[in-house]
Amino acid sequence: MNDLQNLYQELIIDHGKNPRNFGELNPHDRQAEGFNPLCGDKLTLYLTLTDDIITEVKFKGAGCAISTASASLMTDAIKGKSITEVQQLFSSFHDMITQGQQTMDLGKLAVLSGVREFPMRVKCATLAWHTLQSALHNAAEIATTE
Ligand code: ZN
Repeated sequence: MNDLQNLYQELIIDHGKNPRNFGELNPHDRQAEGFNPLCGDKLTLYLTLTDDIITEVKFKGAGCAISTASASLMTDAIKGKSITEVQQLFSSFHDMITQGQQTMDLGKLAVLSGVREFPMRVKCATLAWHTLQSALHNAAEIATTE
């Protein structure tokens, strides 16, 4: 492995062990559940929105290091961004881990670029993003208190 890959590996391990934005967010505007049956990764994502800006985001759940690190990195990356910006980020992130193309600067999300060499792991890395999609699209799915 070269130095960059080593650095990426360390960041993934760090975010996998000490996930950022971990826990429940109450109150929240949106909530969605994600499950990756291939690996057994589960997560619940919570967001608050002000107009179309994601002002706060947290997640909880249990999964492998890749799914946890990806959720941790995603929540850091999307906080404070508009839904339009987040969709561009997801599209670019998806291209990176499925095709190895980076169409925009992904910042720390680039640490997951190596996942494309492990097709079984792509679903681990995209779980948080697919859960985010359902949280953003299901406007009617306002979370209940319990
Ligand atoms: Zn996994």
